[in-house]
Parts: sequence; C-alpha cells; structure tokens
Amino acid sequence: MKTITDPQKEIPVIYEADVVVVGGGPAGIGAALAAARNGAKTILIEKFNCLGGYQTLTFNSTFSLVDPEVQNGIIQEIIAELKKYEGAVERDLSKDTRKRKGMGAVFFDAEYYKRLLDMMMEDAGVKVLFHAFGVGGIKEGNRIKGIFIESIEGKRAVLGKVIIDVTGSADISWKSGAEVFSDGFPQGPKKGRHAGYGYTFFFGNVDIPKLKQLRKEQPEEWGTLRVGMNLIQKAKAEGKLYGNRVHFLISEVYGHNRIWILGPQYPIPHGHHPWVLEDLSEGEKDLRKQAWSMYDLFRENVPGFENSYIEKTPTMLLLRDSHRIVGEYTLIEEDMRQGRIFEDSIAISNMPPDVFGPDDEHDMVNNLMPYDIPYRSLLSRDTEGLLAAGSTMSVDFMVWCATRYCAPSICTGQAAGTAAALAVKNNVNPRNLDIQELQKTLQDQGARTSVKHMPKEVLAEYEESRQKKIKG
Ligand SMILES: Cc1cc2nc3c(=O)[nH]c(=O)nc-3n(C[C@H](O)[C@H](O)[C@H](O)COP(=O)(O)OP(=O)(O)OC[C@H]3O[C@@H](n4cnc5c(N)ncnc54)[C@H](O)[C@@H]3O)c2cc1C
Repeated sequence: MKTITDPQKEIPVIYEADVVVVGGGPAGIGAALAAARNGAKTILIEKFNCLGGYQTLTFNSTFSLVDPEVQNGIIQEIIAELKKYEGAVERDLSKDTRKRKGMGAVFFDAEYYKRLLDMMMEDAGVKVLFHAFGVGGIKEGNRIKGIFIESIEGKRAVLGKVIIDVTGSADISWKSGAEVFSDGFPQGPKKGRHAGYGYTFFFGNVDIPKLKQLRKEQPEEWGTLRVGMNLIQKAKAEGKLYGNRVHFLISEVYGHNRIWILGPQYPIPHGHHPWVLEDLSEGEKDLRKQAWSMYDLFRENVPGFENSYIEKTPTMLLLRDSHRIVGEYTLIEEDMRQGRIFEDSIAISNMPPDVFGPDDEHDMVNNLMPYDIPYRSLLSRDTEGLLAAGSTMSVDFMVWCATRYCAPSICTGQAAGTAAALAVKNNVNPRNLDIQELQKTLQDQGARTSVKHMPKEVLAEYEESRQKKIKG
C-alpha cells in the first residue's frame, strides 16, 4: 500500500482524568457511572451525539432476558428509571422461551433513554465528550496513558491513569497495538467469516388496529415475533424483494402508529472484515436498499402498511462481531456450557448464545445455566492500565454471542469502572487489584458477582427450564 508521512506535531492535552472510558454504549454507561461514583475523576468519550450505543444508535432499545436475580446494580437502577416513563414497556417472555417466571424484556423509548443517561452522568460527575472519535492509545512501553481523539477541534489528547475500551469493537486496543481477537466463526464451513451486519428501522403511519387484526387472523404468518415468512419467500422467488433475509421481526411496542423492524441483513464475504471502511460503506448502502425494497413489499401486501412510510433508518448499521481484547483469561464456550465458577468472578450472565450466521442462519442455544464472568477477562493481557467490558472483553466467539447483550454489558461495565476507580485509589495496576475488595465493593453497590451467590430456588428454576429445553 502506498503511504505518506504524517508530520509529527504537538497535540494539545484537553483533559487529564483518573479513568477514561471510550464508548458510550451499555458497557461504557456502566463503567463511567461506576468509576465516578467510586471517586474517580472520569471522562466518557463517544464518537456520536448520544449515549446508549446500539440501544440508541440502531434502535435496539431493549434489555432482553433481564433477571434481577442475575443482573443487578446499575442496570436495575436504569430499568427502574425507564419504567417511570410511559414509553417503557415490560414483557414477560417466560411463556415464549426458556425463561424462568418474572424474567422478560424491557422495551423503552430511546429518546427518553438518551436524556436519562445525560442526567445520570451529570449527577455522577462524569464529564462526557460527544463527537469525539478515539483514534488510538497514547503509550509508554506497554502502558497506556491516554488516548488521542479526532474531533471538530482537530486531533487532541485525553490522559488517564486507567483506560477502559468499551467501543464494542476494541477500537482503542487494536489501534494501540494491544493483542486483539479478529477471528469470526471458529470452525466449520463458516470458519473465519463474520456474523454479518444487521439493520433496523421504523415504519411510520402504520394502521396498528388493522395490523393487530391481521396478527389475530393469521397467527402463523403474522402472530409471532418472526413474521412474513411466506410473503418473503414468495417475493424472493418472484424477484420482488432485494436482500437475503428469510424473516423479519416487527414490534409495535412503541405505540402510536410506529412499527419497529429488525430485518435486513448483509452477509460479509469471506476475507472481508467489519473494520474495513469500504466494506462498511458497501454494507450501509446495501442495507438501505434492502430496507426500501422491504418497504415496497409491505406497503403493497400487508394490511395496515398501505399509507406507511420509512420514518427513520439508524445512525449506523448493526456491526455484529468485530475485534475483542485478548485478556489475561479468555472465557470459552466450555466454561459457559459447564457454568464454571471463577474465584475472581465479577458478574453473571444468563444470556444464551444468540448466533447469527453470515448468510442469515440463526441459532439460539437455550439450554444453559447462568455462568460467571471472571475479572481477568476484562484485563488486557499485554497492556498495563487497559480494561475492557461488554462486547469488547476477552471471550471466545460463542461466548461473545451471549455476553455482548446489553444487560451483561452494563454489568461487566460496572465491574470495569469499579476496578479502575479502586486501582486509582489504591495506586496499583488494575492487574494487581485485590479481587476481594473489588467483589465486596460491587456487592455493596447492588451487583451480584457470582452464580455461587444466587439463591438456590432461583437456580432450581433455571435447572428446571433447562431440562425442559434439553428434552425438547
Ligand atoms: C442486530 C442486533 C440485535 C441485537 N438485539 C439485542 C437485544 O434484543 N437485546 C440485547 O440485550 N442486545 C441486543 N443486541 C446486542 C447489543 O445491542 C450490543 O451487543 C450491546 O449494545 C453491546 O454493548 P457495548 O457497550 O459493548 O457496545 P456498543 O453498544 O456497540 O457501544 C459502543 C459505543 O462506543 C462508541 N464507539 C465505538 N468506537 C469508538 C471510538 N473509536 N471512539 C469513541 N466512541 C466509539 C460507539 O459509537 C458506541 O456508542 C443486538 C445487537 C445486534 C447487532
């Protein structure tokens, strides 16, 4: 590749913090709030104009499979606040899926969520910088001391004693030369391929009563979460639908006349990657084209959509698997399947691996018990002062398919933020932190840190539904 030299220049340092959190998604929210509340001077860097990550940028405004016996602390605080607002709806999914009673999904209004998060950050004393794109780490030997950002002001530096990479794609770690996973599917014919990009958008002006009637009259085709299979297959066979998706998810939980669609999917070809600019750009164009094709199909064929329009498409496509840090420990599929208990566990996940294949295959592995997430999976193996959480932490591909979900991301974020603040307070490297102090601090602040602290009767309920699933 042809190269050109970027002349060395002095970069203004615009902020010096104890903890720098890069990425304002669920993991970044947990991390920034926890770090600040535990006494660290904290800055949160986000490349777009709001917090929430995929929950706001791509309208994936849900907390799925949340169980207060598993995910507690900051996440439940946020859910309680969301429920005070009329836009939030809770659904009990225990009948639809494996879940134990009381476990469900919370769908909420993304605009309210953005405002709520601004207020929570302000109350906690977190400094938030929007429109700030972290472009790499500032390193001294194997220690990270801050990050460079690109912004409306140009290139700037933000210094910190601990850096938390919660970019969802290990952006800072990768660009700083820290070890990252770049793997994609681990085996079989899909080996090395990535899960593909997803896309969501809103239809406006939908006649909801008419749609509800359709759902009642044709429950198999329109009554479930995945809809329109026959319509889609026929349209594809006749060349009337562009795209490779074989079903869509629709939801009218946002009320009024608005429908949320999770539909188009872009298969990333073998040898291509979600961190390549050209692939991303092709994906964006293709997904928009798919959304418009789907819109034509619905308008012409689905009662209730006759006068609808595309109300909005997302700020960015749904990037699925990307880079993850290589940590001191990598949580692997076997650990998850065995429900392995770790002495340094800092959070629990009850998420099943939700595996999206590159060509629109989908599988959800529902027969698992809750499992521990060890602190060492948040610690970069080769870079001092670097932590990760959420979809950026050190897990293998199958575990990533599960722990990337919003609920575990907030919880691992809370653990990373708390660890960073304690490391600063105790003047130690995050790697040398007293684990028991970290666990106790998290527990005192409402978080449940290990499966071994879960009530026996709750675990029995999980076991019961697991057996049901195994028996089919
Ligand atoms: C199609 C799809 C459907 C999903 N459905 C669900 C669901 O139903 N329920 C559920 O719980 N989860 C769901 N998820 C998963 C969930 O949305 C994500 O896995 C979760 O948001 C991960 O949180 P995170 O904080 O690790 O990363 P993200 O949400 O990706 O947040 C990362 C943040 O970092 C910012 N950022 C990235 N790079 C930089 C940089 N260099 N500098 C500054 N900022 C940066 C981004 O703008 C973003 O705000 C879904 C995901 C997809 C793709």
